[in-house]
Amino acid sequence: PSPSPLIEAQRIEHRYEGVLALHGIDLAVPAGTFLAVVGPNGAGKSTLALLLAGAMSPTGGRLMLDGADVTARAGRRGLVEAGVALIPEGRRLFGQLSVQENLVLGAFGSGAGRAETARRLAEAYALMPEAVRQGKDRAVATLSGGEQQMVAIGRALMAKPRLVLIDEPSLGLAPILIDKVYETLAALRASGVTIVVFEQLAVKALQYVDRFAVIDRGEIRHRGLAADPDARETLRMGYMGAD
Ligand code: ATP
Repeated sequence: PSPSPLIEAQRIEHRYEGVLALHGIDLAVPAGTFLAVVGPNGAGKSTLALLLAGAMSPTGGRLMLDGADVTARAGRRGLVEAGVALIPEGRRLFGQLSVQENLVLGAFGSGAGRAETARRLAEAYALMPEAVRQGKDRAVATLSGGEQQMVAIGRALMAKPRLVLIDEPSLGLAPILIDKVYETLAALRASGVTIVVFEQLAVKALQYVDRFAVIDRGEIRHRGLAADPDARETLRMGYMGAD
């Protein structure tokens, strides 16, 4: 028998007052995967990201982690202790604090002492572009959007996650910086971390991930392998809402 997926949504449903944002999402993420959940504005990507991170409870269905039901564990801190990190849309960094201060905050509550925090800092900096390393004492607000996204990734890594969920990593970035962000994610995956990106920019994500799922109006419409020659066509169909 194959091992349980690292994380799995089973018939997940989510209703905000009056709006059924997700209906019946089934999504299994095996350990080691780099997956993109792609879809248009309002499709339900951010909602799914928050639910998979355990940052809020679904109004229906179950969330499984390593084969165990963790639906009831959802709360403000999410599943950080279980090794799940969320990088929310808009990054939510502390602009007035330095790069290093933001990074250190990422280790907060993960049980890392001084020596371990220093080790993790070195690992996080190793993934970052030179400009960020050099500017570790600069206020984050003075960095470019791409540099800030790198800091957001670094901050998530400070908790030593097994799974990183990233909502719209390329939002507002110039194309060259988007590639830099994805190259960083690819390096992270190569180091053994499982990654799920939630993206509107499907074609770009497809260059880096191994699997994708198309979400539209709260449902997964298509799934595929990025290497599949039909992947782009599948994406196009998904975006047109074809069933
Ligand atoms: P975007 O790319 O625009 O962020 P998305 O794919 O991430 O879109 P969600 O933000 O998950 O989509 O939204 C899915 C649906 O749920 C939309 O119809 C949205 O208006 C609705 N929604 C999201 N958050 C809330 C909320 N807090 N209260 C009410 N409705 C919400």
